[in-house]
Amino acid sequence: MTHAADIDRIHEEVTRRNPGEAEFHQATREVLSTLAPVLAKRPHYLDLKMIERICEPERQIIFRVPWQDDRGQVHINRGFRVEFNSALGPYKGGLRFHPSVNLGIVKFLGFEQIFKNALTGMPIGGGKGGADFDPKGRSDAEVMRFCQSFMTELYRHLGEYTDVPAGDIGVGGREIGYMFGQYKRITNRYESGVLTGKGLAWGGAQVRPEATGYGLIFFVEQMLAARGGSLDGRRVVVSGSGNVAVHAIAKAQQYGARVVACSDSAGYVVDESGIDVDLLRQVKEVERARLSVYAERSPSARYVGGGSVWDVPCEVALPCATQNELDEAAAAELVGNGCRLVAEGANMPTTAAAVEVLRSAGAAFGPGKAANAGGVATSALEMQQNASRDSWTFERSEAKLAEIMRDIHARCFEAAEEYGRPGDYVLGANCAGFVRVADAMHDLGVV
Ligand code: GLU
Repeated sequence: MTHAADIDRIHEEVTRRNPGEAEFHQATREVLSTLAPVLAKRPHYLDLKMIERICEPERQIIFRVPWQDDRGQVHINRGFRVEFNSALGPYKGGLRFHPSVNLGIVKFLGFEQIFKNALTGMPIGGGKGGADFDPKGRSDAEVMRFCQSFMTELYRHLGEYTDVPAGDIGVGGREIGYMFGQYKRITNRYESGVLTGKGLAWGGAQVRPEATGYGLIFFVEQMLAARGGSLDGRRVVVSGSGNVAVHAIAKAQQYGARVVACSDSAGYVVDESGIDVDLLRQVKEVERARLSVYAERSPSARYVGGGSVWDVPCEVALPCATQNELDEAAAAELVGNGCRLVAEGANMPTTAAAVEVLRSAGAAFGPGKAANAGGVATSALEMQQNASRDSWTFERSEAKLAEIMRDIHARCFEAAEEYGRPGDYVLGANCAGFVRVADAMHDLGVV
């Protein structure tokens, strides 16, 4: 049997054992389908059932999260934490609060996180969690009560050497604060390293809020440099308008790019003079308002309700919103309009069919597990600072992040060459990440 056939068999079994988890099937297929050249060089992985072991989470926790709204009405949400792989370090990965969250989504995110974290070269395993709670329209007090209830169950599974959550969609500094407060109260420990993304006054690290977006742009600069170019003067479109998007836009503009559009779940804005990051942050972060408000306040902007931000012509497209937001039709539209590079700020925003369209058009594609790893890498720096009771300057932290992103790019680039597909960052990221985890698992025995 060829290795491709082994991989198909293993993926069929993963699909059968995890019914109804479409995003998990998609994420595992994306990784497994690139591993044949790794098996060719390391056939002992097959006997050790390395792929099957990596696809099976070490532990999955599902729990009830009851809470009361401001009118006293009782709500029940479902909380998750999937502790996927701890071969390289404590489980590490964010918490997502969004109505779409279910076990399949958390497992796809946790699976991606294993390889992303491995690519950073840092001592962090992979995990992910969250709840199907919708923070939209909720008061601060309601969000606080929800976070407290969530942590009242989750705390027993966490610890700086065990499992270290952070933010993701719907979980930012405010939510991390409420969860850290509750953890501290229940355990009577000021255990700074148990969560990352903390506020600067209580154990947080410089550059953590900016890190995913900044890291994405550092990665894109490396991709463009490898093709003899740079971001300077490029026309860029970003999807989303949350934490990742905002900081990606700001950093891209520092590199001389013109970011002409961004979006939220209701529509998108086009601003030919370049997105005004201060106004965007005022609308989205301070007022927690819709993006249409940006267009009302900016004379150079127009708002398009509904539709697709990928219809806006650009040379560089950066999906920074959510999974499967850039499909085959959108990819065809992008390349038809001259787009030459797509890099993922979000987790799995590009469908497999869309990646295929980009590949056949010769556009460069940077997968999220490499391109957006700056966030979790800076979380690992936060853990490092917490462990040594130190805090670094902004400049030192940003320089370290830039170095980490350069290294990740080099790892992917070199692995793509080693495994026979030069320039294929998907294959490079998957193979380099997988080998680092699998080699550690090999050394730790069958556990
Ligand atoms: N949620 C982020 C990610 O997708 C960050 C995780 C972390 O900092 O632990 O990588």
